[in-house]
Amino acid sequence: MDIDIVSVFPEYFDVLQLSLLGKAQDNGLVHVAAHNLRDWTHDVHHSVDDTPVGGGAGMVMKPEVWGECLDGLLGLRGDDSDDNQNSEAGDAIESADTVESAAKHDGTVLIFPNPSAPLFTQRDATELSHADRLIFGCGRYEGYDARIPEHYRAQGVNVREYSIGDYVLNGGEVAVSVMLEAITRLLPGFMGNPESIVEESYTGGNALLEHRQYTKPALWRSLEVPDILLSGDHGKVNRFRRDEALQRTNAIRPDLIEALDCKQLDKPDRKT
Ligand code: SAM
Repeated sequence: MDIDIVSVFPEYFDVLQLSLLGKAQDNGLVHVAAHNLRDWTHDVHHSVDDTPVGGGAGMVMKPEVWGECLDGLLGLRGDDSDDNQNSEAGDAIESADTVESAAKHDGTVLIFPNPSAPLFTQRDATELSHADRLIFGCGRYEGYDARIPEHYRAQGVNVREYSIGDYVLNGGEVAVSVMLEAITRLLPGFMGNPESIVEESYTGGNALLEHRQYTKPALWRSLEVPDILLSGDHGKVNRFRRDEALQRTNAIRPDLIEALDCKQLDKPDRKT
């Protein structure tokens, strides 16, 4: 999988060299390139932002700089002529470009982190783990000009905007790191033991929170591992874990219980 990240702080992504993601890059499973948005500026100050139209505090990321950058990464022919966009000829060029780029970018997803977008979930991570190429655009300041994702959608590019939670960060870099880790760990060959991603919270048809985990020793500071986990009876262990997953999900995330497909529950599930 090829991953491009555009940011005004590309050094943020040096940490991606660490741990399993670093190993996946060394093995050629993923290729990550972090780009500095300012490399696409032309003024002496390398400005990427301007004041908000309509007034208000803060600054907004300029569409022209993002446009040049993303056209370059996507291999699109840039067209910054407003005359063309408003004319019939412009419309014809636009629709021809759209068809061409839609075909060309099948398998590429352009992702913008945004606190006011739909929440990024495990389902999204799973879907995106099948993409050939991901391009992430990190917002800063008050965010990016709304026409940027709109434009690329109109060009036939698969554009997504995601929030990673109901809070506001200073920039998209941390949000991209979160999404990237959730996506790449699902790639075949990424985890040493592929089984470790099969039974996890939010995963599978009936996505629950996972049961609690224990390791040895069986007694630690007067706290015991539940007896049943030491019994060696796999059927009972599985039932215990399943019951605990259901109970914890019901207590902590009742919304996930409501979203369950009841047809997939077995009889003992219904008793818990
Ligand atoms: N004015 C925006 C608002 O109130 O919704 C907040 C902009 S925030 C300070 C700057 C950038 O950080 C955003 O454009 C986005 O890229 C990123 N960001 C902040 N919080 C985020 C979140 N919860 N999820 C995803 N991205 C976030």
